[in-house]
Amino acid sequence: MAKIKMTTPLVELDGDEMTRVLWKAIKDILIEPYVELKTEYYDLGLEERERTADKVTTDAAEAIKKYGVGVKCATITPNAQRVEEYKLSKMWKSPNGTIRAALDGTVFRAPVLVDGIDPLVGNWKKPITIARHAYGDVYSGVEAYVPEGGKVYLELPGGDKIMIKDLPSAGVIQAVHNLDKSIAGFARSCFNYALSTKQDLWFSTKDTISKIYDHRFKDIFAEIYEAEYRDKFEAAGIEYFYTLIDDAVARVMRSSGGFIWACKNYDGDVMSDMLATAFGSLAMMTSVLVSPDGKFEYEAAHGTVTRHYYKHLKGEATSTNSVATIFAWAGAIRKRAELDGNAELESFADKLEKATLDTIESGTMTKDLVGLFRKEGVTPVGVGSFEFLEAIAKRL
Ligand code: NAP
Ligand code: MG
Repeated sequence: MAKIKMTTPLVELDGDEMTRVLWKAIKDILIEPYVELKTEYYDLGLEERERTADKVTTDAAEAIKKYGVGVKCATITPNAQRVEEYKLSKMWKSPNGTIRAALDGTVFRAPVLVDGIDPLVGNWKKPITIARHAYGDVYSGVEAYVPEGGKVYLELPGGDKIMIKDLPSAGVIQAVHNLDKSIAGFARSCFNYALSTKQDLWFSTKDTISKIYDHRFKDIFAEIYEAEYRDKFEAAGIEYFYTLIDDAVARVMRSSGGFIWACKNYDGDVMSDMLATAFGSLAMMTSVLVSPDGKFEYEAAHGTVTRHYYKHLKGEATSTNSVATIFAWAGAIRKRAELDGNAELESFADKLEKATLDTIESGTMTKDLVGLFRKEGVTPVGVGSFEFLEAIAKRL
C-alpha cells in the first residue's frame, strides 16, 4: 500500500516518561506504516527543556502559531522533587501554561466514549466538552481579613476613592478582576471550536446576581456572536445558547450530551472534574487548546503516568492506556487534513479512531478499563501497553 502523503507539517511536541514511550510506539505501530508523516519536531522532554533553558517550549508554541496545528505528549511540570531528580538549574514552568499563554488559548476537554463503558449519568449518550476560561477571577484574586470597623475603598483613575464596603463587624473581603480582552479571546476560542466540531455552544454565568461582573461576560459573548459568528453558526446548523449556571447544571444532567459547555474559571475548574469522573476515566479524556484566531493543539488530559514508567524501566510489563494520546494524534491529523483539503489523510484519522474503539468494544483493552467495561456477550481482557497497540494495528 502506498503511504498517505502530507503537504504541511504537523507540529509535534514530544514529552516525558511513560507517555514518551507510548508516543514513539503509537507513531511506529499505528501511524508511520500508513502515513508519510511530516512533522516539525520539538522535544519537550525535561532534559531538552533544561538544555535549552526552556527555549524549546517557546519555539514549539511559535511553530503552532505558524502552522496552525500541533500535537503534544504529556510533559513533567517540575516541582522540588523533579529539580533534584533531573538536576535542573531551575524549576521550569509548566509547558502547558507557557503554550497556553503564548497562544492566548482556551482548553477544551472531551471524553472518548466507548460502547461498554457507560457514563455514570445514564442519559449521556454523546460526549460533553467543557471549556474553562483560564484567566482571572478568584485565581488571581486579592483577599484580606478585615478587622472590626474596617472599610474597603476602591481607587479610581484620577485618584478619587469610593467606599465599596463598610463592614458592620470583622470578616473577610475578596477582590477579583477580569479583562475585556481575555473574555473576548475566550469567546472567540469557544465559537471557533464549536464551528470546528459542529457542536452547539452553551455558556453560563450568574449574571442575575453579578449584574456588572458576570453580565460583562454575557454581553461580550453576545456582541461577538452577533458580529462575527451568527451567520457561520446558522450555516453550520449549530446554536449558541446562554443560560444561568444553575439552569445549565440542571440541563446538562438531563441532556444526552453532544455540546460544548463554556464556563468561567471557577465553574470550569469544578465542573470539569465532575464531568471527567462521570464519564469514567482520566485515561480516556482528550484535551484541545484553541486560540482565538483558530490555532489548535491536541493532547491527552492525563499526565506522564510516572508510576507505570518506573515499572517499565525495571523491565516489568505495563498496561498503560494510550487511547487519549491516540485520539490526540487523530484529532491533529484530521485538523491538518481539513486545512489542507487532504481527504485521504482525513479518512485515515477516522479509521485510526474507529480501529481503537472497535478494539476495546470487542473486549481487548488496557487493564484500567477492564473493571469499568460491561457489555453483553463480551468478556473484557486486559492486555499490555504494546499488545493493545498491536491489536489496534491489526484492525487498522
Ligand atoms: P498522571 O500521570 O495522570 O497519573 C496519575 C495516575 O492515574 C496514574 O498513576 C495511573 O493510576 C492513572 N493514569 C493516568 N493516565 C493513565 C493512563 N493513560 N493509563 C493508565 N492509567 C493512567 O498524573 P500524576 O502522576 O499526578 O503526574 C505525573 C506527571 O505528569 C507529573 O510530573 C505532572 O507534572 C505531569 N502532568 C502533565 C500533564 C500534561 O502534560 N498535560 C498533566 C498532568 C500531569 P495507577 O498508578 O493507579 O495505575
Ligand atoms: Mg479542578
